[in-house]
This record gives sequence, C-alpha cells and structure tokens, in this order.
Amino acid sequence: SESHTRREWNSSRSERLFERQKKLIPSGASSLMRTSSWDPYPLFIQRGKGSRIWDVDGNEYIDFLMAFGPLINGHSHPKINNAVKKQMRNGYLFGAPNELEYKLARMFMKFVPNQDRVIFALSGSDATFNAIRIARAATGKDVILKFEGHYHGLHDYAAISVESPPVVSGLRWFPRPLAYTAGIPSEVLDTVVVANWNDVESLERILKIRGNEIAAIIMEPIMANSSVILPDDDYLRAVRELADEYNILMIMDEVITGFRVSEGGAQKLYGVQPDLSTWAKALGNGLTISAISGKKEYMELIGNGVAYGGTYFASPIALAGALENLRLLAYNDFEPYRYLKRITRKMAKGIEEVADELDEDILVTWETGLLSFIFTKRKSVRNYRESIDSDWEKYKKLQRYMLRRGIYLHPDMFERIPLSTQHTEEDIDAFIMALRESLKEYRE
Ligand code: PLP
Repeated sequence: SESHTRREWNSSRSERLFERQKKLIPSGASSLMRTSSWDPYPLFIQRGKGSRIWDVDGNEYIDFLMAFGPLINGHSHPKINNAVKKQMRNGYLFGAPNELEYKLARMFMKFVPNQDRVIFALSGSDATFNAIRIARAATGKDVILKFEGHYHGLHDYAAISVESPPVVSGLRWFPRPLAYTAGIPSEVLDTVVVANWNDVESLERILKIRGNEIAAIIMEPIMANSSVILPDDDYLRAVRELADEYNILMIMDEVITGFRVSEGGAQKLYGVQPDLSTWAKALGNGLTISAISGKKEYMELIGNGVAYGGTYFASPIALAGALENLRLLAYNDFEPYRYLKRITRKMAKGIEEVADELDEDILVTWETGLLSFIFTKRKSVRNYRESIDSDWEKYKKLQRYMLRRGIYLHPDMFERIPLSTQHTEEDIDAFIMALRESLKEYRE
C-alpha cells in the first residue's frame, strides 16, 4: 500500500461547509471536541467502513480517532447493521420495557461478572451524573472527589479541572478546583474536591481534612483523557482501601476503558472492584447507549428514593446494536481482545522504533486497544501535570502531515488512539510509515 506516501490533498469542500455551518450552528458543530484544535477547519466526514473513513472531498483515511472511542468493531459493521435494521422494522422507541434490555443485561454480566445490577442510559455523561447522585444518596454526603485531568463529561460536577487548556492551580498534592466552563455555580464548585492521581499521599492528606464530607471518589481507572496514563502498581487498591476507611463510594468511570482494555474493563485487569462503574463508548460501537453497574445495595436505591430515567435511555435500536456488538466481542472466549492486544503492542513498538531511529523524544503508553504518544523527554508520565509538560504544537503539526498521508488523528495529543477489531496489521504498518515520513517532513 502506498497510503503512507504524501499525496495530492484537497479539503476545500470541508472548508466551505465549515464556513457555512458556523453561521447557523455556534462553533460550527454540535460538540466542541469535533472542531477545537483543528486549525483552521475540521474535515467533514461522509462515510466509514471498517477502519476507513472518507471525507466530503473524497479523501480516504485510516481512522485512528474512531469517534473518540466507541467504534471497537469499526465503522458500519455488517452484523451490527443487520441487528439495527431488524429492530428498525419493528419501531424505534416505545416508552415501555423491552426484552432486549434483559438480554443486554445478561450479556453485560458475562463481560463484567461481579456486578449485581446494571441499568442503561444514553451517554457517558448521563452515567457519571447518575452514579454521582446515587453515591450522594447512599452516603448522605455532598462532596465529590475527582482527579486533575480526569474527564467524566461536561455536567457541572464533572467539568472541573479537566484536560486542555493545560492550566493548573493550587498545590500538586491539593489542586484547586478549576471550572472548565463558564456557568458552573460556585456552590457546585464548592462540592468538588480535586486530588492528584497516582499519588496515595495526596489522597490521604485530603481525606484527613475532608474525608467525612466526601460521598464518592470518581476516577478513570486508566487515564485516557490526558494521554494514556496507567495506574501505578497497587494504586487502585490503595484508593479502594482509603474509600472504605472513610465510608466513601469508589466509582470507576470505564467509559473509555470498558469493553476495550479487557472484556471486563480496567477493573478486571487490575483486580479492584469499585462500588459503582460507568460504561459507554465501546458498549454500543457508536450507537447511543451507556450503563451504570455496581453493588445491589447502591443500585437498588434507583426507584427507592433516587429518581432515574430519560425518554431515550435504552432505546430498542441501541439495545439491539449493543447486543450484537457484545456478541462479536465475546466470540471464542473473547478472542477479539487478544487480537486487539497484539495490534496495539505492534503499534507501540513501531512508534518506539521510529523514535529511536530518528532520535525523537516520544513517550508511548498503551493498554489493549488504547494508545497514546506524546513528545516529551520524560521516560514515564504518572499524572496530568507531568503529561501537559510536552510538545502540543509539534503533535498538532504532525497531525496535519499525517492527514496528507491518509492517517486520521485528532490534532489534540490528549485524545488517545483507540484501535478496533477492524484495524489490520497493514493499517498499523501504514501508520508507522506515515509517522516516519511525517517526522522527517517536520524537520525540513
Ligand atoms: N467519561 C469518560 C472517561 C469519557 O472519556 C467521556 C467522554 O469522552 C465521558 C465520561 C463522557 O461521555 P459522553 O461524551 O458520552 O457524555
């Protein structure tokens, strides 16, 4: 394949569509992540199949954004299409319970066996918002502890001290909560405490001061919104123990890691069981579905004091698609995860080899199906403050060079690379070749 070589590349239609769209839709698209960092305009994507996408100017790319994570089985998978089509013939939405809900719940338990209960919602944000509410109801406490650089959606309790712009405030061990958006009431900011992740001492010190007010500790068990950062050995276990000591619920936000890093998410890999977990992206392969799962005593508060629901929660269309998606992932005792691990390792090794060959300071971090590489002299990165200390501008430039070689990446280096079962070894080779050529072009 010649896909790694630089080619004629025209994106004038994307440019025109963006100019038009900005006049009607604030910022030009219905989610800022789709436009931000794209300088001067984002590409309009028309079609996807497997690991490939095509933009409105007819350029073909190997997709290494995968809709920010959901597409574990790639674009427009024929089996998932069939399941969705079959349900469409029977109707989209009824406002009534549906048998598919039970089937998906049963399937869910095969992936994550140690959960007593599961309930579905629409987006990752719905899931984290409701999990936080359950924790408050269960403990009778108001304060939530989150970690610097961890992303749990944009609702008021989550849009605090998250990723870019790379700003920090307060001491490393006790960061000051920073509103990520205008419009968060100061009363809400006062109910969120922020800690440094991968740092038991930070957590211990904060809990000594405020532990009795805290209802929940919410975290990404593997950080995936500030590049990919793995937890230190025994860190998750230490958090688990501290949460128990202070009667705090531990919420693992597996929205990215769930159904991706292993069939049972990061909690299975690390062998630490949270009280509540949130799931979304790879659960539905792009269909809009998320889930909250956990221990009976907390989950059963739903309907017993805790309100829950939404018109579109667990739509039959999404249930049908998610069920087929999980069936594919469960094939032959979860065989797809062994494949994902192999290609992710191949990609990580390939990037490291290119870095060595060209004497570039690149740090690659990965877990099955999930990878990031950042430009830094550090040999490891353990938290948000270390991660932002890297060369964002270089990544952004490189992303433009990669596009011209048929590789689609987000220009924001904190957006990790999710792989799918539809990425081939050749796709990974094409990425590596394009990276080598793009880094050389950067130096010219
Ligand atoms: N939690 C994590 C870890 C995420 O990465 C995201 C989205 O990227 C969310 C929650 C929010 O999910 P959604 O965008 O579906 O609301």
